[in-house]
Order: sequence, then structure tokens, then C-alpha cells
Amino acid sequence: MSRQFRFVPAALALAVATALPAHAGVTDADLQKGNTYTSGVLSAGIGSEGQRYSPLAKVNTGNVARLVPAWSFSFGGEKQRGQESQPMVYNGKMFVTGSYSRLFAIDAKTGAQLWKYEHRLPDGIMPCCDVVNRGAALYDNLVIFGTLDAHLIALNQDTGKVVWDQKLDDYKSGHSYTAAPLLVKGLVLTGISGGEFGVVGRVDARDAKTGKLVWTRPTVEGHMGYMDGKENGISGETNKSWPGDLWKTGGASTWGNFTYDPKTNLVYAGTGNPAPWNSHLREGDNLYSSSTVAIDVDTGKIVWSYQNTPHDGWDFDGVNEFITFDYKTADGKTVRAGGKADRNGFFFVNDATTGKLLNAFPFVNGITWAKGINLDTGRPEYVADNRPGAPNDAAEGKKGNSVFAVPSFLGGKNQQPMAYSPDTNLFYVPANDWGMEIWNEPIGYKKGAAYLGAGFTIKTISDNHIGALRAMNPATGKVEWEIPNNAPLWGGVLATHGGLVFYGTPEGFLKAVDAKSGKELWKFQTGTGVVAPPVAWEENGEEYIAVVSGWGGAVPLWGGDVAKKVNFLNQGGSVWVFKLFNGQTTADAGADTAAASH
Ligand code: CA
Repeated sequence: MSRQFRFVPAALALAVATALPAHAGVTDADLQKGNTYTSGVLSAGIGSEGQRYSPLAKVNTGNVARLVPAWSFSFGGEKQRGQESQPMVYNGKMFVTGSYSRLFAIDAKTGAQLWKYEHRLPDGIMPCCDVVNRGAALYDNLVIFGTLDAHLIALNQDTGKVVWDQKLDDYKSGHSYTAAPLLVKGLVLTGISGGEFGVVGRVDARDAKTGKLVWTRPTVEGHMGYMDGKENGISGETNKSWPGDLWKTGGASTWGNFTYDPKTNLVYAGTGNPAPWNSHLREGDNLYSSSTVAIDVDTGKIVWSYQNTPHDGWDFDGVNEFITFDYKTADGKTVRAGGKADRNGFFFVNDATTGKLLNAFPFVNGITWAKGINLDTGRPEYVADNRPGAPNDAAEGKKGNSVFAVPSFLGGKNQQPMAYSPDTNLFYVPANDWGMEIWNEPIGYKKGAAYLGAGFTIKTISDNHIGALRAMNPATGKVEWEIPNNAPLWGGVLATHGGLVFYGTPEGFLKAVDAKSGKELWKFQTGTGVVAPPVAWEENGEEYIAVVSGWGGAVPLWGGDVAKKVNFLNQGGSVWVFKLFNGQTTADAGADTAAASH
């Protein structure tokens, strides 16, 4: 398939734009529709619960073989690198972020650029894991996204003009922003990246129309929260789970996408590793690191937290998305719960209202650091010998005892979001089977410097794959089917009522498989690696599927044996849009639109 280009004179484009029906802007009512809002894509996760499930079925198991490109759009520029963004679609416009803090507005029907915003980045930004961005949020007539120098910026959807610009934090101390913001009740919720630099994680809520801070809730125990400029209680109890002063630079950065369930009125934020990585310096559980933290969106207070990896010593960030769903227990009850495929290799099911652990099971092969998760205590059964040893003054470089740990710190699953289908009651997890040699070294905190106190080498553990798309049954813990992939999976997943699961691979394919069997039904080569999640929406009675393509992210930066599996992959940066072939080309569609405007 070749890309199709079409020249649109400026005056004609304007005529088309003015012919569009008037829209009031994205409202809370629109957002509350969640995934039943199908004429666009209004939030990361396709609905605030994060299920990444589309009720559309026009593209389905019977006809997906006829899926063809409608258009493709290049992000251009010399700077490429990882493209992890989920496109947003509203009012006939697509809003998609690119690497290096760029945002493009595109005509969703033709692929023509409407405007672009390129943030002026200072020298010295410190993103740990590539210059990525995972997408924007929409509210009213604004499109809101965060930048690598830790700003949050609201642009006018029609013009791309900056409406407000808020500094989240100081990039010189290692803060950055890469996630997609979450819109709840007129508040724009954001976290912060920088767990490898000893920043303190938190969740901020701002008035989406003005950018003004409403509340902030730290995710390291001991820090004060604020609401409307006043103290709003300390998170937890100072020094309860942290020794000495380490909580002051305690990490637990909130760098993943959040979810929100209107049924519980809670926002679920995942938190990263406690800082530094060397766990021997910080005796205790180190709350609220490597956890799911549930915050009342009205009060800015923590209602519950669940720690996936207490006293983490392997960089098992707990930022992966907590997807709420109706969990059907073995004895036939239905509980509003959340599923999370953690970096540490275990899949957790927690009660979404109380945080109580309901189920936990491995979703990757060969986990070494824990024998399992005890469902009575809710805690891991650690393998004591698999914790990397304390630095040793007598050893060369004061290196502590090295261990081989599975999964690697890049995780059984990393930022690539999974999907849940209420049709099959299965989670579709883009998983990775790999391990690492890891050891500890001495470390002290220095502003703006890496704060790890550990070294590592990532290794493969299987000859035939690292990645595996796995259909997981949350009630039984069973892998219903799996599809191995040579390179690590780093893109997200979309499930649809058409019985399909879409996912991308670093090898460049967007694939559609049968949600029940895993049978591959369609694939398309996008020209560079896919490390972003697909979306679906409908317009004029047609279903569209889109995905961003552009190889990069954390994997190629961290080397080890894994580099051999990915070092042939080419970079890029584009968004691809597909629809069923109906005998009409994009050029025809454009001619129709032009004719209709005269
Ligand atoms: Ca980390």
C-alpha cells in the first residue's frame, strides 16, 4: 500500500472547516460516556477506566482482512526516536503528540495537517527513558499535554495557540513529564517522571480551563498534601515506612497513565520505584512506592493503597495502569475490581473500592524474586537470595553480590497498556519474558544526578521470543492463549466488540487477532516499530482504527543481549489510519467534501 497525498489550497481548507457543524467543546458529560462515546477518542485508555475496549463492531473477525490504510501522516523533522502516543479524536480532528514534546492537529478524514505545536525544549532535560510522550487530554476547546521540561500546556483545539502554560516542576532536578493527563470533573490530573533522580512522586489536580492548581497529593510517605493553597494532611505518617531522611528524595514517581472509575470516584495512580534502587539503604516498606494509590478526586486524599512490591530492590515500578472492570469471582459474585499487570511479573486483582487483594498470579515465565503473592497477607513471598546484596567495601568498585532476577527491571510489562474486553472477560497483556544481572553500589543523593546505587545487564531467557501477547483470565490466572514475539512488546493493545484484539510490534506490524483464540487475521507493516496503543472511532458510519508508529522508548537505550534483537530496527514517526476498503480512495473522499462545501 502506498501513502496518498492530496494538495488542499488554504482557502478551500478554510471553506471545509467552516462547513463543519458547530461543537460546544468536550464536556464532562461527554467524558462520562467512557467507551460508549464512539464518534471520537476522548481519553487515554478509551474511557477513564482504561479498558481500551471499543464497543464498535463494524470492523470484525469476518471482514478485518479488508482493512486498508485511509491515510498516513509523518511527524517529520530530524528528531525521531520513540513514538508512544495514543491519538485523540474529536470534532473531526485528530490530536496526536510526537517525540520531543510536539503536538499535531490533523483532519481526521483526510490526514491533512491543521496546525502543529513544537515546544521549545531547553538544553539539559533529563528524561530517563527516551524523549517520548504518551498523548494528550481533551476538555472544552482545549488540548492539554505535558512536556519533557515538566510543563503542562493547554492549546486551543482550533488554532494551536497556547491558552495556558503551567510549570509542573524543575527539569534541572530531574523532573519531566511523559504520560497522558487524565480529565475528571473539570480537573486535569497529572503525575511526574523522574524516579531515577530522586524526585518525589505526586498527583496534581488543576482546573482544566485555567491550569490553576487545586490539590496536590505526594506519593511518598511523610510529605504534606495541599488543597486550595492550604495544608491537606501528610501522606501517611512520617518515618513510618522510611528510615531517616530518605523519604525526602524517595522517588515513587507517578509517570504512568492514571485511571478513574465514576463508580468509586477514585483516581488510581501507579507509583514507581523507591529511590535509590539500592534497597539496603532504606529499611521498611517505603510507602507509597511501587504501589497503586487510590485518591478521592474531590478531597485529594488517599483512600487506599496497595503495594505491589514492598521494599522494592529491582526497580519494579508499579506505574502500570489499574483497569477497573466487573470481576466475576469463582463463586459467582460480581465485584468492581481493578486489574494490573505489574512490572514485577505478577497480575493483581484488587477490590476497586477498598484495595483488598482478590487474586494474584504470574503473567510471565520464570519469576525469581518471589515464589508468589500470598492472598491472605497480600504480600509477596520473597526469595531472600534473589535480592541484590548490599554494597561490599572489600569488593572491586564496592559492588555487592550480583543476582539474576526475572523479570528484568524493564518489566513483565512496562508502559505499553493492556486492554480488557467485557465480551470475553479477558485481559490482553503485552508481556515480556526477560531477566537481568543486578547488583548494588554505594550512592548518595545529588540534585539532578542519577540516583540508583545499582548496576544491571538485561538478558534474554528464551531463544525464540522476548515479547508475548497473553490473554489472561483474571479469575483463574490462566493464560487462555499467547502469541510469542521476537522483540520485546512495547506498544499497547485495543480490544473491540468486533471480536478483535489489535496490537503493534517493534518489527513494525500492526496486527489484528481473534479475541477468543488469538488467531492472526490481519497485519500491516507500518515501516518502523510500533510502541504505541491503537484506537478506534467512527465517523459517517465507518469505523476507523489508528496507531502511531515510531521505534524507540526504553528498550534500545538499555542494551544488553536485548540489543541484538532490536538493533536492525529503523526509527520513524507517523500516525496510520485504517478503514475497511469500500471501493473509494481518500482522494475521492476529499473531492466529495470539496464539492459539498460549494
Ligand atoms: Ca524506575
